[in-house]
Amino acid sequence: MKLALHWQIILGMVLGVIFALVLNPFDWGADFISDWIKPFGNIFIKSLKLIAVPLILASLVKGISDLKDISSLSKMGFRTIATYLITTLIAVSIGLIMVNVFQPGKTISEETRNELVESYGADAESSRQVAQKQKESGPLQALEDLVPDNIFGAASDNGNMLQVIFFAIFFGIGLILIPEKQAKPVKDFFDSLNEVILKMIDLIMLAAPVGVFALLAALVVEAPSSDLIIALLYYSLCVVAGLVIMILFYTLGVWLITGKNPSTFLGGIFPAQLLAFSTSSSAATLPVTMERVEDELKVDSKVASFVLPIGATINMDGTSLYQAVAAVFIAQAFGMNLDLAAQLGIIGTATLASIGSAAVPGAGIVMLVIVLSQAGIPEAGLALIFAVDRPLDMLRTTVNVTGDAAVSMTVDHAQKKKM
Ligand code: ASP
Repeated sequence: MKLALHWQIILGMVLGVIFALVLNPFDWGADFISDWIKPFGNIFIKSLKLIAVPLILASLVKGISDLKDISSLSKMGFRTIATYLITTLIAVSIGLIMVNVFQPGKTISEETRNELVESYGADAESSRQVAQKQKESGPLQALEDLVPDNIFGAASDNGNMLQVIFFAIFFGIGLILIPEKQAKPVKDFFDSLNEVILKMIDLIMLAAPVGVFALLAALVVEAPSSDLIIALLYYSLCVVAGLVIMILFYTLGVWLITGKNPSTFLGGIFPAQLLAFSTSSSAATLPVTMERVEDELKVDSKVASFVLPIGATINMDGTSLYQAVAAVFIAQAFGMNLDLAAQLGIIGTATLASIGSAAVPGAGIVMLVIVLSQAGIPEAGLALIFAVDRPLDMLRTTVNVTGDAAVSMTVDHAQKKKM
């Protein structure tokens, strides 16, 4: 029987650690892993970064053009989007509070940090320069930078993912506004493009067990200091604690707004949560989420079929919370101090990045690149957190799905009250 992907990945992680621990005592062990194993981990991360730009374009344009129903269901549309936005902003804020209070990256010693900065020295240095430049610029610079003057320029420059997002949203709005007949070929093209990109992510994730094996083995021999492992543990705990708070927040919100008690809500959605946990994909979970929300939680099927698919695409509270924690954690690990303005910037980019994340495994860490590059945090930090990403992906997907279900219940309640 074929082992499920998440087990393969967990196995890859464990074997990677064991492999490195066995080889490390030999003189040649560390070099062998750096020269012959680590490159596969790097290739894995590079391939994730490779699809970031087409992923944003395809998934955002598709997400926005799917909102076409907004003209007929405008009230429900606005209510849905507004609620999704509010829950996402709350999630990012919770993430930022957790990571600032517990400061998991600060547990890394000066020595380990220097090793990290050294191994990714050039990247760290150039990111610092970007951050410095941002500090020196005027108050409206961020707004000005949002608008690209050349889409190909924006797409070829990793630091300008936000400009790609701007273009995608602008393009999507244009697409909604032209007559259906003319829009159809373009919409069909982006629908197919989106499918191709999702398939590419699938294919990349097939290599994930090998990728994490290589990354973990390299991590063990290159950063053997125990304080890094402790820092990763703290970081994971920060994410998990934030996610638990989000689940409590939904449960309480649903209870207060719709009157459905916690056991009804959590009991109703539980099978979808389990599926989300084991597939790490809100998209794969969507059919079960819809079924449970309609049959068990008694949400009108018209509401569920509008709110949930949009939610699976754009509402990823778990992902945005994780991105906020991860970005600040990496900054802390690299010894960067993020001021209030930088942290407020993270609220904006993590919200946009989670909206742009596809509902598939590993999308959150791909889109994290945007948050990192916009805040001037070394992208090399991805290598640092990748080791623990899969279990966190399983948990954040569970929260993403729970959030969609909670919002569908509140929108349904509002619609029924109106009638
Ligand atoms: N796997 C998540 C989802 O499908 C996205 C992510 O990677 O955060 O909801």
